[in-house]
Amino acid sequence: MSEPLVIVGNGMAAARLVDELAKVALGRYAIAVIGDEPRLAYNRVLLSSVLAGETASHEIELRPADWWRERGVTLKYGCTVTEIDLGRRELKIPNEESIEFSKLVLATGSTPLRLKVPGAELAGVHTFRDSRHVDLLLTLGLARKRVVVVGGGLLGLEAAYGLAKAGAPVTLIHLMDRLMERQLDARAAALLKLLVESKGIEVLLNANTARILGESRVAGVELTDGRRIDADAVIFAAGIRPNTSLARDAGIPVNRGVLVDDHLQTGAPDVFALGECAEHRGICYGLVEPAYEQARVLAQHLAGRTAAYTGSVVATNLKVSGVNVFSAGDFMGPAGTDEIVLSDERRGTYKKLVISDGRLIGSVLVGDVADALWYLELIRNRASVARIRNDMMFGRSTAMPAEAA
Ligand SMILES: Cc1cc2nc3c(=O)[nH]c(=O)nc-3n(C[C@H](O)[C@H](O)[C@H](O)COP(=O)(O)OP(=O)(O)OC[C@H]3O[C@@H](n4cnc5c(N)ncnc54)[C@H](O)[C@@H]3O)c2cc1C
Repeated sequence: MSEPLVIVGNGMAAARLVDELAKVALGRYAIAVIGDEPRLAYNRVLLSSVLAGETASHEIELRPADWWRERGVTLKYGCTVTEIDLGRRELKIPNEESIEFSKLVLATGSTPLRLKVPGAELAGVHTFRDSRHVDLLLTLGLARKRVVVVGGGLLGLEAAYGLAKAGAPVTLIHLMDRLMERQLDARAAALLKLLVESKGIEVLLNANTARILGESRVAGVELTDGRRIDADAVIFAAGIRPNTSLARDAGIPVNRGVLVDDHLQTGAPDVFALGECAEHRGICYGLVEPAYEQARVLAQHLAGRTAAYTGSVVATNLKVSGVNVFSAGDFMGPAGTDEIVLSDERRGTYKKLVISDGRLIGSVLVGDVADALWYLELIRNRASVARIRNDMMFGRSTAMPAEAA
């Protein structure tokens, strides 16, 4: 008889895990996926494109209902798991009997942070994480509401762009002195700011939110330097927190995320975690690629094969149409490294390659990102670039004409 394997969370990591399990352990497990969102798993990364009106909401489903059925997966959506009973190997869900498991996988993702400032609970303050948020933000755009987006990272920029494209006047405020400071150096960030402003978005840097103004609903934002911005709505896009409460309440060891080893095993027997809720070797990843790598390893492990997850080299791509940005690896160029830089502000292009001990270790690209995947491959492979060093800035086709052909 198949062993009952239950996955909590029906997001991107869960869908990929089922996919991988179907390849290597079909029939071994009776899989149930329990998710609290009221729809089939979808590509969350594409929510930005849905908000920008470039993709329809129904087009982002990862797999159709038939796909899940054909693999014998029991799907429960619109259903929140409220408790794990490790002793009984059971999960609690509202208004139903308990669900038994032999193996349990936590894939609960993250929750957007709300700044702890006065007014943060007013009506008109929102976040940007799931498709219900997108529906709400689209209505703000349609109604031409003035919106302040708090946070100049990837999510904040994509929310600002989508809202502006939907018709809302948007001000993006960012605490730091440059946009996407965790992915870009100062020159790349300055160019990005110009490109974002060219999309009609007002960008305020060094802008620390003091409070949200308004009686019962948002009327504006006040910064710590006294500046005030009128607004009908505020979107917090200032970070995420891994969803760990289920694990913590069950006594499973948690730090920032649910702690896992190289087999994605938590501190409890037969309980695993992956994706944004997991913390591996001190890192909680906020991107989908590591979740997919973890899913492959976990499926192999659950199939009884030898596999280990040792961490991911992550890359970031901004999905704002006409504003191409890529960043990967150690892009700041620490002491002892070499930097090759090509900058043409008028054409909106900035490229930087960071080399250490004859290897490419980081890259930032703004404008021309045609060779992004090649650079990422070089960073991940840690291969010597001595032979192509003089030409690699000009792209693969120049540096390696034979291979690129
Ligand atoms: C707008 C947006 C744009 C993004 N763009 C990019 C990008 O360009 N590149 C990139 O790499 N990443 C991007 N990301 C991040 C990427 O979407 C996540 O890294 C990825 O979705 C993580 O997968 P996950 O399965 O761990 O979490 P999720 O996809 O968030 O899935 C977790 C699911 O678990 C559910 N859940 C939580 N608790 C419970 C419970 N107790 N019971 C039942 N269900 C529960 C949640 O509701 C959710 O549906 C973006 C995210 C957003 C929001």
